[in-house]
Amino acid sequence: MRTDEPELVDHHCHGIRRGEIDARAVGSLLTESDSSPPPGTSFFDSQLGFAVRRWCAPVLGLPERAGEAEYLERRRELGSAEAGRALLAAAGLAVLCVDDGFPAAELLTVAEMADLSGRPARRVVRLEAVAEAVAASGGPAAGFAEAFARRLAHECSSPEVVGLKSVIGYRLGLDFEACPPELSAVVTAAGEWLRASAGKAGAAPLRSEVLLRHVLYTGARHGAENALPLQFHTGLGDTSLHLRRVDPLHLTAFLRQVQQQGTQVVLLHGYPYHRHAAYLAHVFPHAWVDVGLSLNYVGASAQRVLSEVLELAPFGKVLFSTDAYGLPELYHLGAVLFRRAMAGLGEEAVRAGDWSAGDAERVAHLVAGGNARRLYPRLGC
Ligand SMILES: [Zn+2]
Repeated sequence: MRTDEPELVDHHCHGIRRGEIDARAVGSLLTESDSSPPPGTSFFDSQLGFAVRRWCAPVLGLPERAGEAEYLERRRELGSAEAGRALLAAAGLAVLCVDDGFPAAELLTVAEMADLSGRPARRVVRLEAVAEAVAASGGPAAGFAEAFARRLAHECSSPEVVGLKSVIGYRLGLDFEACPPELSAVVTAAGEWLRASAGKAGAAPLRSEVLLRHVLYTGARHGAENALPLQFHTGLGDTSLHLRRVDPLHLTAFLRQVQQQGTQVVLLHGYPYHRHAAYLAHVFPHAWVDVGLSLNYVGASAQRVLSEVLELAPFGKVLFSTDAYGLPELYHLGAVLFRRAMAGLGEEAVRAGDWSAGDAERVAHLVAGGNARRLYPRLGC
């Protein structure tokens, strides 16, 4: 990283997988599919896989574009901890905001991510995970709404918490009925959920439409009152979602509803609907658009996708993230692909005479971290 390059605030990522990550696991973390690659194919034969060979191989002491087998062998020799440290250091992130709501003990915690990266790490609280913790601890259905509000406030009282996240897109879709449910409906739905979870080790995953909406609207209000932006999963994701139902345009009515109360809404990922998210960021002052995940998956096409976001999104509303999950390569790639895309896009605009060199530098700084520092007042670093 050059010293004049903008600092990267990774406003949305996850933990690295704990322990050794073997060759098969590396492949499975290079795809959103939950299936093995069909016979005769490899997940490395993709934009993301090629980007790993191009940009991560040199960090592990191999030539650029080393072959898949050579890469995996080198990784095995180094061990996952050593490879992870090297790749995180190469990423050069200034701060990591970790969504730790995915219920997986195999992922490093926020504190462990700070240790491994040597950078400050902050926490993003997942609303549905808080609700599931409330359900797991039992209690009467009539007290669910109050218990959820209390637990959310308690979790967010920690200074490490900088934002909230909703995965209603995964659980239900973003085309939900855009109004908070009646309290009586919440009590009935909570009763059904608590009964279904009784006697199990943890709560059943939250899938009730009524409760998901209740949790979302409660979170949106809490976020507005406590300077905690609300991140939404939109667009590209794993096989458990229905892609058409996570088009961010489905959030239009919700965005109108929460505008007055001051909830800041962050539209994560977005691909292939990133232009839709850019439109929402254009028209709604409280909507923000993120370019994480998409840039890793499109690899060598990162500049084109970033350009498409910047067609309509105001430059002060676009956010860098890696959305890295599980595999340390993804933090480094998220950083390097973004830096290259942003620099390439700026150089093109300067060459064409559309932007000054100063404009290009300012936009790069905004997207890399300046916008995130403005959006997340509790970042504190
Ligand atoms: Zn994520």
